[in-house]
Amino acid sequence: MKHLIHPVNIPRKLALRHKKPVANSTKAWENFKYTKAVQDSLLPAQKNLCSYCEIELVRGEGNIGYHIEHIEPKSMRPSRTFDFSNLLISCFDSGYEISSSTLAPNPISCGHAKKSQFDPQLFIKPTDQNCESYFHYELDGRITPHPNLTVNQASKAEYTINLLNLNCRRLKRARYDMILEGQEIVNDLLDNPSALSDFAELELEEFNNKHQSFLTTRRQYFQVFLPI
Ligand SMILES: [Zn+2]
Repeated sequence: MKHLIHPVNIPRKLALRHKKPVANSTKAWENFKYTKAVQDSLLPAQKNLCSYCEIELVRGEGNIGYHIEHIEPKSMRPSRTFDFSNLLISCFDSGYEISSSTLAPNPISCGHAKKSQFDPQLFIKPTDQNCESYFHYELDGRITPHPNLTVNQASKAEYTINLLNLNCRRLKRARYDMILEGQEIVNDLLDNPSALSDFAELELEEFNNKHQSFLTTRRQYFQVFLPI
């Protein structure tokens, strides 16, 4: 989970709507016509990655797409339906909801797995400054609570991982493939420090406001090879 800092400039139509009361949050959100401006603001801030699982956000044929997600579900906190700091972009198009079974080819994760279940005391938000420190990435692609956490912190990490289904087969496999491929390159370059640091830079740098998928996993494995 990569830390998300919201842009300072709140999309104008969103800010205006946030000033008005919200009676039925689902209906009010459906009727809001300016979601594109919200997406256009958040996608660069997120470096084009899902705020929860960190896959690249891509729409179109063969891609799972993305949607605007309410961190605190709007059904629970209608007053935050149009609160910019409560919004982020999560993978999966709205309506593209499939089984969360670990056997499904594209198991659902992130905002659509979370839905309206939400314990604010346990959930780790991408907008929490220290969110990245809660998670660790195993060689087999699993995301786990970081070994340095206290028991209470670890239970928060566990809760968040399970609620977002971050260890579904699809995500675990994609992380595993990335780690394996990277480690093979690292092994080939071990006697060439300059090529190795070039590789690490390419893994972790952003291009055109975009990062590669699984940035915090890449950091855990490849940041050590960056030039000092
Ligand atoms: Zn995601």
